[in-house]
Amino acid sequence: MADQLSGAGLAAASDIPSLDRLLNAEALRPALATHGRTQVVAALRRDLEALRKRALDGGVPRHELDAAAVAARTSAALDEAARPRLRAVYNLTGTVLHTNLGRALLPDEAVASVLRALTSPANLEFDLDTGGRGDRDDLIDDLLCELTGAEAATVVNNNAAAVLLMLNALADRREVVVSRGELVEIGGAFRIPDIMKRAGAKLVEVGTTNRTHAADYENAIGPRTAMLMKVHCSNYAVTGFTKSVGVADVAALAHARGLPATVDLGSGTLVDLTQFGLPKEDTVRETIAAGADLVTFSGDKLLGGPQAGLLVGRADLIRKIKKNPLKRALRVGKLTLAALEPVLQLYRAPEFLAQRLTTLRLLTRPMRDIQPQAERLRGVLAHAAGSSYAVEAVPMFSQIGSGALPIDQLPSYGLAVRYAGSGRPGRHLDRLETLLRRLPVPVIGRIADDALWLDLRCLEDRDEAAFAAQLAEPLA
Ligand SMILES: *Cc1c(COP(=O)(O)O)cnc(C)c1O
Repeated sequence: MADQLSGAGLAAASDIPSLDRLLNAEALRPALATHGRTQVVAALRRDLEALRKRALDGGVPRHELDAAAVAARTSAALDEAARPRLRAVYNLTGTVLHTNLGRALLPDEAVASVLRALTSPANLEFDLDTGGRGDRDDLIDDLLCELTGAEAATVVNNNAAAVLLMLNALADRREVVVSRGELVEIGGAFRIPDIMKRAGAKLVEVGTTNRTHAADYENAIGPRTAMLMKVHCSNYAVTGFTKSVGVADVAALAHARGLPATVDLGSGTLVDLTQFGLPKEDTVRETIAAGADLVTFSGDKLLGGPQAGLLVGRADLIRKIKKNPLKRALRVGKLTLAALEPVLQLYRAPEFLAQRLTTLRLLTRPMRDIQPQAERLRGVLAHAAGSSYAVEAVPMFSQIGSGALPIDQLPSYGLAVRYAGSGRPGRHLDRLETLLRRLPVPVIGRIADDALWLDLRCLEDRDEAAFAAQLAEPLA
């Protein structure tokens, strides 16, 4: 059959094989086995239609009508369409908690727990002691209380949801006092003033962008005030002639007027990062101890867990929040809880944290590991990039990302690629960046100052061989 279809010269529309004939051809068997008849028929129809058009327009080389050629095109199209959209990549951007690359990576314990929850029924809302109905928050609230010193805790889908819920539950149609220096916008359209509006609360801005005093808060308190709120300055720092009022003072002012003080910590860490050689960031426990009545923070930033929004604080406020209908709308699924619990458990043994919690392991990865790795991979990348590029192993700075400590930088090491030819480097760097991004496991770096920078902090030693293997051949 194939012989009949092939032959020299151009084929006419009448030479195009029929759908039935192709479906029975040996060459189509693998595609049928992989993708099923429905998809193969649809793909064949598209292919034959394109051939027909071209045949009418002037002809198609005969060999393109071979069953084998049709099968190859069909399989390629179907394989491409079936390729996962959500794919693993190498994060060499230098930003450890990269929001666009999925933020925190889960530790092994959490991965195993998620797998169990995915494949087995679990006591998500079932009290194993009484046999009665349970509350999914019960799975983690005692851990969160232990780790933060709070009286009560609850969890929702992300921290933006936690803030929305908190404001709606505690400040609907009332006023919330916030410093002008803290009206943050975080990437992805999270703005405190917008969330406030959606929650039904009225924002009362106090102070100025750079300076807010205790008296500013005090003067803003009126009969309709629901709370004083502080927001972590994620993604920026106000420096120079500045003044802000700390949590303890804001809490004291609020409490003197019988109001709660709330803090959106954003990243929110559970441990003192300075013990790991990282910059100081107020912990959730310190914030609670300073007098905050309610603290909200993310699960997948410094905490190193799954996407989630955690609320911890006074039991009466948490109770009110849990009764709000938005809580049900924003609740977390079992996969989130399955991932969160083992992550919180890791914090109970802080001596192992820097090894076992992936985020912290990456943030504290020592230069003595990163620098030799950069030197090992320099030649690999130089060979893959070709002689138009110069590759150097150089020191650079990583950042934590996701708004934590935005101005602090972690000394790191990596590869800097520059265009070695003459003329403007921009287009050539873009080309290389694209080639790396199109690898089976895309390599994501960043272009700045006429170089492509690949920070190796997040390429752990166990992934190095696979990374190098992808670069064994020169990039096309
Ligand atoms: C990141 C952040 C948020 C949003 O948290 P998500 O978990 O991304 O929803 C809210 N507030 C602050 C201060 C943040 O840094």
